[in-house]
Amino acid sequence: MDQSLIHLRDIEANQAAFLVSMLNSSSCNFYAVDSTRRILDAVGFQPLSEADEWSIVPGGKYYVVKNDTAIFAFIAGNAPVESEGFRIISAHTDSPCFKLKPNCEIYGDGGVVSLNVEKYGGGILYTWFDRPLAISGRVLTRGESPLAPRQHLVDSRRPVATIPHLAIHFNREVNSGNPLSVQKDMKPVLGYFSQQQIAEAKKSGGFIPALLVDLINQNLAENSRPVFAEDILDYELCLYPAEPATVVGLNSDILQSHRIDDLSMAFSGLAALILEAEHPADATRVLALFDNEETGSGTKQGAASPVLRHIMERVCISLSADKQALYRALARSFMISADDAHAWHPNYNEKYDPTNHPVIGGGPVVKINANCKYMTDGRSAAVFHALCDQAGVKMQYFVNHADVAGGSTLGNISSSQFDIPGVDVGCAIWAMHSARESASLSDHLDMIKVFRQLLK
Ligand code: ZN
Repeated sequence: MDQSLIHLRDIEANQAAFLVSMLNSSSCNFYAVDSTRRILDAVGFQPLSEADEWSIVPGGKYYVVKNDTAIFAFIAGNAPVESEGFRIISAHTDSPCFKLKPNCEIYGDGGVVSLNVEKYGGGILYTWFDRPLAISGRVLTRGESPLAPRQHLVDSRRPVATIPHLAIHFNREVNSGNPLSVQKDMKPVLGYFSQQQIAEAKKSGGFIPALLVDLINQNLAENSRPVFAEDILDYELCLYPAEPATVVGLNSDILQSHRIDDLSMAFSGLAALILEAEHPADATRVLALFDNEETGSGTKQGAASPVLRHIMERVCISLSADKQALYRALARSFMISADDAHAWHPNYNEKYDPTNHPVIGGGPVVKINANCKYMTDGRSAAVFHALCDQAGVKMQYFVNHADVAGGSTLGNISSSQFDIPGVDVGCAIWAMHSARESASLSDHLDMIKVFRQLLK
């Protein structure tokens, strides 16, 4: 993370640089949460453990981390929680990628070592070919007891793998459509090694365990016991495109990066929360960054779990003597569920609704679906429209072409856990789920302004 951006004044003045810096320091869901936590620490939020008793005070700033892949920050309101409720911005920390399987090394001819991987989420596979790929995630090593392994975040930072495409000479039809098998076509190559190197690596558990041990030991706190390959109990590691986020286009206004969906919304929400934290408010303001949206949100740290409801319950119990405070607060709450939207693509006009296709640079997008795939209804869309007006920001609508089935997102999944009104929104992006997605920087700055209106 760019340490110069950790001061609020700098974030306020350099919001685009803040987003780019956060994207670059968040190579996977674990690091997205870690980067967020560091910013929250720096601006005075206090960590709360789910296992402790909480005593929340009005105006207090707190955060809760779940599984190291989801994070929930909140500022307790100054008015009674039952009278002002919660103002929530939600987004997700995960993005499509490839995860390393256990026993992931495959030894081939000429000492070539490949990695056995599994696809996470619904990525556009062929955008992952021929790129520099790095590895990041979490490693669990032997701890004090079987139930308490030590946990280490690791990020190779440098590209350590690539997925080479088959030459066109072996498949002349490649440009006419080329079905891909994850198991066969998408195995990243770690390099080529001498027989001696391979024999030595196998003796100490393999090349990946050796890399992990190096990365862990480089970052160990002073006086910590060093880690050895035999200490590794398990890992959750993903490959990520190592090219940093960049700004492209003749006007230098298009943000291009891996993980724009949905870290761009997560960090726009974070920017809004910490900038508004300077100003007291009556409502309790919440930033909820869930994990596992790309696989249906059905984990303990996903939007389908009770994690956020439990946090809101504990806030109400801590702040109010009224036994019905939670229910009264929910009735006065509002949620903006922020997940990026599809921008009109100049090459595929026919894919879009004729009158409701958001454009890059056209401002925040409200998502609407007649069959309720989004939580947006007329009333919540009106609230968002009014917030945009108040922020002085243009807004636009996304509705699917009537013959195209669209995606879904966090909003409705969250409302199965707590029945509050809300709206699904996002910034319009190109190439959703590509290894490199593109978005407008100005749309994000506008979205931060609208989020700030909700949190005022
Ligand atoms: Zn998303």
